[in-house]
Amino acid sequence: MIEQQVFTDLTKNGKPRPWRRNKLDNLTYSEYLLMLHYRKAAKVKECGNVLRFKKTKDGFLKLYQTWFCKSRLCPLCAWRRSMKNSNQLIQILNEAHREYPKGRFLFLTLSTKNTYSDTLKPEMQKMGRAVYKLFQYKKVSRNLLGYVRSTEITVNHDDGSYNQHMHILLFVSSRYFKGSDNYISQAEWTKYWRKAMKLDYQPMVNVEAIHPHKSKNDLLAGAKETAKYQVKSADYITDNEQQDLRVTDDLEQALSHTRAISYGKLFKTIRKKLQLENEDDLINTDDQNSNDELTDSEVVVAKWNYELQNYFIR
Ligand SMILES: [Zn+2]
Repeated sequence: MIEQQVFTDLTKNGKPRPWRRNKLDNLTYSEYLLMLHYRKAAKVKECGNVLRFKKTKDGFLKLYQTWFCKSRLCPLCAWRRSMKNSNQLIQILNEAHREYPKGRFLFLTLSTKNTYSDTLKPEMQKMGRAVYKLFQYKKVSRNLLGYVRSTEITVNHDDGSYNQHMHILLFVSSRYFKGSDNYISQAEWTKYWRKAMKLDYQPMVNVEAIHPHKSKNDLLAGAKETAKYQVKSADYITDNEQQDLRVTDDLEQALSHTRAISYGKLFKTIRKKLQLENEDDLINTDDQNSNDELTDSEVVVAKWNYELQNYFIR
């Protein structure tokens, strides 16, 4: 037998990229889909089986060809998507800041009471409509320049409920902080969210302004939080198979035909201007370092080996 070489893909910091772990989770996920009789199960299993990379001049790998299943819960695709979204978002935020140097960033989290499987999807749809309404309230829209939002779902394994909450990064004019006609306190945000959602209870709302002077890291953290996974794979890939099957089924239904991330106002315009609208392409993750010069001929092909449970260089 020919000795095979295990594939590794290192970041510039020397950390191996988690291809193997995500592919293993992808296989568990496709197994669940098969047990739940989803037709896409066989396709999901093929996701990222053969990876073709080109070598950069400094010896790093850049993915240039593979097939991704693009299923929302696929751990491999979710990893690529969150990398791409966070890289795009950072470019958009930098450009927004360049255009409006005095603008300020706020990080807003909106949630509602936990739901159960049959009410999860309607609740998410209701939140989508309510947040749109919230942004149109006079006091909110007055100083709002742009926003980006994503919905995250967490699973409570104790009682089988779900919590859905929205992460929103707001970009406001500096006037937002001037006087009670402009400034919106946490209590006021809560009042508005309750009104937009027509709730008969006080929802959990959190708002944090990102300080303009030490903003760089806070902003990056905020961007990563907004762009990260909608659901952590650790919530549906555990050692309890029965529970995983129920959760996977619920989440598949809830997330179908929804967007992972959406941009509004100035952020939407900038996204268009920077031509970052190719969200289906999970090969190019819009990493700003990805303009590194590529070598012409050196191609590395990594292939998944089902028996040995790892990627090997072919
Ligand atoms: Zn996939």
